[in-house]
Order: sequence, then C-alpha cells, then structure tokens
Amino acid sequence: MVPAEAGYDAAGVPNQSKINPIMKLILPAFRACPVCGFAIKAEDSVYRLHDTYSRQATREELRRDQVSELDIFGHRICMLYSAMVCPFWRSSRSKFGKDSAFHGDGKRGPTPSLMGFRDYAVLVDATQPVAGPTAQQFVFVCRQLVEDTVFDDPFEAFADQYDRDRKATGGSLIRGRRRHYAPELGGVKRLQKDLMQVLGSLRTIPPDAIVDLEGREMGLFGSGWL
Ligand SMILES: [Zn+2]
Repeated sequence: MVPAEAGYDAAGVPNQSKINPIMKLILPAFRACPVCGFAIKAEDSVYRLHDTYSRQATREELRRDQVSELDIFGHRICMLYSAMVCPFWRSSRSKFGKDSAFHGDGKRGPTPSLMGFRDYAVLVDATQPVAGPTAQQFVFVCRQLVEDTVFDDPFEAFADQYDRDRKATGGSLIRGRRRHYAPELGGVKRLQKDLMQVLGSLRTIPPDAIVDLEGREMGLFGSGWL
C-alpha cells in the first residue's frame, strides 16, 4: 500500500521515500491520516512512529512544554501497521538513504517508539509561499502526550494489538472522503482541487492564534480546520 503522504512523479509512479511537501498542509487541513488518507475522528488522538533520535528530541521538548514535529500524524492502527510492514522499523541497525525525508541521523536506533498526542496544529507563515519550489516547511505543534510506547521487534510489540484493533475499529475508520492522490484515485487533478480549497480556507478562516516563532509571526491552525 502506498501511503497517502507519498509523492508521485510525472508518470504517476509513487516515491515512498519522499513526502510531497504540500501534503503537510492538505492532510492536516482535513485531519487526514498520512498512511490511509481517511480522516482521524476529532475525539481520537494522533500518532507517529519516532526513531531513537527524534524520540529523544521530542522528550526534551516535552520538558519545555513546546513540542514541534515535521512529520504528519495519523491513526494509531495505521502506525502499528507501518511499524510492521516498513523494513526501517524492523531492526535497530536500520538506516534511511541520504535522500530520505526523515531527519536526525537517519538511524532507527535501539529505542524507537509509537508516540501519540491528543491533537496537533500547523504553523503557517502568511508572508511565505505555501506551495511550489520555494514553499515554507510546515511545522506541527503537538498538544498533550498520550502515549510513548518503546519497541524493539515491532511484530512482538504490536501484532496482537493490531489484530484486535483492526477487528474492533477497522471499518469505522474508513468513512468519508479519502485524501489519497494516487493516479487511480484522481491523482494530480484532485490534488489541485483540494489544494485550492485549502489555500482558500487560509484566506478566509482566521487562525486559532498568532504565535511568535523565532521572530516570525505564524498563524496556528488546529488540525481539521476544514
Ligand atoms: Zn490511517
């Protein structure tokens, strides 16, 4: 399965190691999951897998009570699935290639974790382009840690739970519009349409707050503002 956040080249071939930057605005606008593309319910918390390095960085930010992240959050069950199918999460020696979208030292390390937050918001700089080659890098601000489950072997840690969750909640998660832009699901044309809707919303919907980020005035938009 190609994750919803993957980029596609002009021929419609997915590039799973590169996230299409504009997805960091489109998926959060609909509170859509970067794996399956379906919306995360407002009452559900949001999750992401962290390598050892980014987990430590996040834990340090938690002490200062201001957690920011660069990766889009998703369903808990979709992160359990990703942990088991993506080879990167299988071994502490795993490492991403140089052109990967991930930061840090590129290694999984010995203490990766499934980390969950109650909610997240996106910081948008109204003075900078939001799309195109000079687009800003979107930053997510996280609210209230709800889970930090360290794992080593993802199958041992998550297989039973994934199966239970899939039976209990699987069907209820795949409702409504799917924000996945694979060629067979509408591709670039649909992506452009949704992008126009999101850009329009940034002009008409006021941010929840204006925050100062290193001297820049940023609009804070809570996930799912559309
Ligand atoms: Zn999902």
